[in-house]
Amino acid sequence: MIGVKGWCPGALRPMQSGDGLVVRIKPRGAMLSREQAAGIADAAETHGNGLIDLTGRGNLQLRGVTPATHAPLIADLRALDLIDPDIVTETRRNIIVTPFGGDATDALVRDLEAALAASALPLPAKFGFAVDTGSVPVLTHDPADIRIECSGQGLILRADGMAKGTAFGTPSDAVGLAQWFLEQGGAPDGRGRMAALIAGGITPRADLAPNDPAPRAQPASLSQGVLVGFEFGQVPPGTLRRLGRLGPLRLTPWRMLLVQGARHLPPMPGLILDAGDPRLRVRACTGAPGCTQSHAATRPLARDLSPLMAPDAVLHVSGCAKGCGWPRAADITLTATPWGFDLIRYGCAHDAPALRGLHPDQLPKVL
Ligand code: SF4
Repeated sequence: MIGVKGWCPGALRPMQSGDGLVVRIKPRGAMLSREQAAGIADAAETHGNGLIDLTGRGNLQLRGVTPATHAPLIADLRALDLIDPDIVTETRRNIIVTPFGGDATDALVRDLEAALAASALPLPAKFGFAVDTGSVPVLTHDPADIRIECSGQGLILRADGMAKGTAFGTPSDAVGLAQWFLEQGGAPDGRGRMAALIAGGITPRADLAPNDPAPRAQPASLSQGVLVGFEFGQVPPGTLRRLGRLGPLRLTPWRMLLVQGARHLPPMPGLILDAGDPRLRVRACTGAPGCTQSHAATRPLARDLSPLMAPDAVLHVSGCAKGCGWPRAADITLTATPWGFDLIRYGCAHDAPALRGLHPDQLPKVL
């Protein structure tokens, strides 16, 4: 099936955009081997327009794919073990993973992927899991409905929206919590999120608190490897190939990659290695002209405004209220409309604005 506008894209079910089909790849275990990194870079150049995006759920997107190149692209990706057997399995396999977990986390993710594939749960397309089993939670503020986290009493299973969870045993516990969500009516008409169900007063048993979360991740050389960022999460194919030669690549929902085992990285096109780089303070979707739904160009504006943001603040510039570029709250969100930019403080692209219809020339003054 090709090009259904408005869907969350997958690889088997891509989405039409202004620059062609968007094909989302979900690497198993949120990790790329050297061969997979090189193969994706080749595939982006051969079957797409060469653009590779890191997404806010720790996936990769190839852009500029056509109906004619989609089938050979899928064949190439399938040979790299990057394609699920069918759309249902692909849609259900939404798992973000801490890049700092180690072998035990990798094994847990494999088991969770298998348990989800074996289940027949009709979960909403955006429903997802976070395997955050390093010693300190790092995915607390990233989108997931069911979280496996560390606590003072070992691993716990926590429903998003709850402050506490229960002792985690096996991945089937996580599938069981997803089933509970459905049984409680969390997804009428096939849509819904765990936090909304919890906010409505329906709560599972919970008695164990997770460990305190880590501060927001920044590019750095760490004991596990080098964490690197990219402007707007775009990775040049040549850079992806070179990084893949330096070690396994761990994908994060922060639009950064951990180059596992690396100690130092030379400069490469697109890499952000400095935690003080103002480009890390901005998020922006593809915008015009790449997305036909956008009311304005987003990335040039975000780049121009980035030095005006405080080092710990996030500015999100969105081409429309859908908010693909940062599907969560930002310190300031600018949402393009037919009448100018709406400014939202501490909210998402679809939230009520504090100011409406701003011309780009007015923005430096109001930020
Ligand atoms: S948020 Fe941006 S990329 Fe997403 S549909 Fe709107 S304009 Fe397009």
